[in-house]
Amino acid sequence: MKRTGYAGTFRKTDLGRTITVSGWVESVRDHGGLIFIDLRDRTGLLQLVFDPARDPKIHAEAAAVRSEWVIEASGEVVARSPETVNPNLPTGEIEVAARTLEVLNQSRALPFQISHGHLNEEVRLKHRFLDLRRPLMQNSLAFRSKATALIRNFLVENDFLEIETPFLTKSTPEGARDFLVPSRLLPGNFYALPQSPQLFKQLLMVAGYDRYFQIARCFRDEDLRADRQPEFTQVDVEMSFVEREDVMDVVSRLLVRLYRECQDVEVPTPIPTLSHAEAIARYGSDKPDLRYDLPLTEITDLAKASQFGVFLRAIESGGIVKGIRIPGGGKFSRKELDELVAETQKAGAGGFAYFKITEGKLASNIAKYFDEGLLAKIHGRMAAEEGDVVGFVAEPAAAANQVLAHLRGVLAEKLKLIGGKNAFVWVIDFPLFEYDDEAKRCVAVHHPFTAATAETRDLIRTDPLKVKAQAYDIVLNGTEIGGGSIRNHRVDWQEEVFDALGLKREEVGQKFGFLLQALSFGAPPHGGVALGLDRILMLMLGAESIREVIAFPKNQRGADLCFDAPSPVEDLQLRELGIRLRETKKSDG
Ligand code: ASP
Repeated sequence: MKRTGYAGTFRKTDLGRTITVSGWVESVRDHGGLIFIDLRDRTGLLQLVFDPARDPKIHAEAAAVRSEWVIEASGEVVARSPETVNPNLPTGEIEVAARTLEVLNQSRALPFQISHGHLNEEVRLKHRFLDLRRPLMQNSLAFRSKATALIRNFLVENDFLEIETPFLTKSTPEGARDFLVPSRLLPGNFYALPQSPQLFKQLLMVAGYDRYFQIARCFRDEDLRADRQPEFTQVDVEMSFVEREDVMDVVSRLLVRLYRECQDVEVPTPIPTLSHAEAIARYGSDKPDLRYDLPLTEITDLAKASQFGVFLRAIESGGIVKGIRIPGGGKFSRKELDELVAETQKAGAGGFAYFKITEGKLASNIAKYFDEGLLAKIHGRMAAEEGDVVGFVAEPAAAANQVLAHLRGVLAEKLKLIGGKNAFVWVIDFPLFEYDDEAKRCVAVHHPFTAATAETRDLIRTDPLKVKAQAYDIVLNGTEIGGGSIRNHRVDWQEEVFDALGLKREEVGQKFGFLLQALSFGAPPHGGVALGLDRILMLMLGAESIREVIAFPKNQRGADLCFDAPSPVEDLQLRELGIRLRETKKSDG
């Protein structure tokens, strides 16, 4: 017996056909003699009817069948009587008058019901093979397959070559901790799993493979969050003889195609661009959510002229005073306003000073520290209207921005400003370096292979924190979904950056000797980008975590609960690798 087609695909147009279907038993119902089995495969459900009058033996066999058994059945496609039509089911107008039934396998009672809505994630991950049987996960992985195929086709159509790069490699400095793999043949030496194929794709440019891509697995040993996994997938791209706009254009066109063909959504083009400085000034974040505006406004210069000690002290110690207008916030109850203050504290603020706009004036118990003229100026600067609230934090700039960016998100939810929109934005003109207080030196904002802009390159030696990078991030709804840069294709440019990062020549030679060599043999100007495929799919599907779009993810502690990995290994395996374990405290579970 061979199945005619997928269970969920039959329709009224198949009436009269004799078909064979295979799959899992979703449910068995005995309705006064007739037995109904809902058969499920990855395309949906199909109702099979077993009538004792048609074949008592088959009917008796059907009565013995249980949920999640694997069966094959055949029979004629017949119309359901009008009162039994199920409009919620694509196959709901038909059923199969079953004539044969074969049980291909039985199933033990399941730890959870396949059709159950909300399940404990640990249970799901432990029995991932059952969890993946659920329609929700099947849709998710089918969507992933479709989206990945589309991305691949788009890139191939645009003359990109798909080239695989190794997993066993040398550590690439993407900023996270590496996963290490011990070498047996060279005891005491370790490979690192790639944090991204960054250096390989640059070498491919040197080799002339203009326009490379790879749907690449990347490995980063970081603390995990909802949108992070120790291994994740990037759409990795590199191009030669291009400028920033060329790379951004390819990504923009790819996103338009992806949303159009996988979601029937038109992404408005051109995707807007925001400089890093504007993003921080207006939204407090380099990944602003632009589904709503709620801009931030700095009033440090005005606050200086007040008598308000909290503001004055913050400014004296180098901080800023920055605020947000809350449209209609005057309607909030005392409790609601207290909750907003608590949100700012949760995000790290020492306080949140707010005024209500009533009768054309800023009113607050702290208004007495500001003279009338000053209040009027703040009112004007904040573009506040009657019935609004304006609130301020006084903190070091980074903290003020972080708090207000958090508050923007909270307010957008509270004021219901989000809706079902998608807001893409390119953030450009990042600084090349930032100062790392712990390391007490400059570190790369993206990675050390990013080129400075031509206008600011001269400052690398004299004023590195003022140097702008030819880097770009693509942000969707407040989440960074990708980023990249034009690279240092000249040895002297790359050496300057290494110098600014405080890397000693010897260290550079050890870690990046091969890169500098490659750059010295005719490297073309090049640049690229990487898109976080898991995150994009998560956002497209409205899923809560990237684990929902990955077939076999790790849990929050980096463990695969189904395979029980990581796990101890045999002593012999360690001995072959020349490894002896140090005494480690037993972990608490
Ligand atoms: N390799 C970079 C990353 O993984 C992206 C790029 O610059 O292309 O973040």
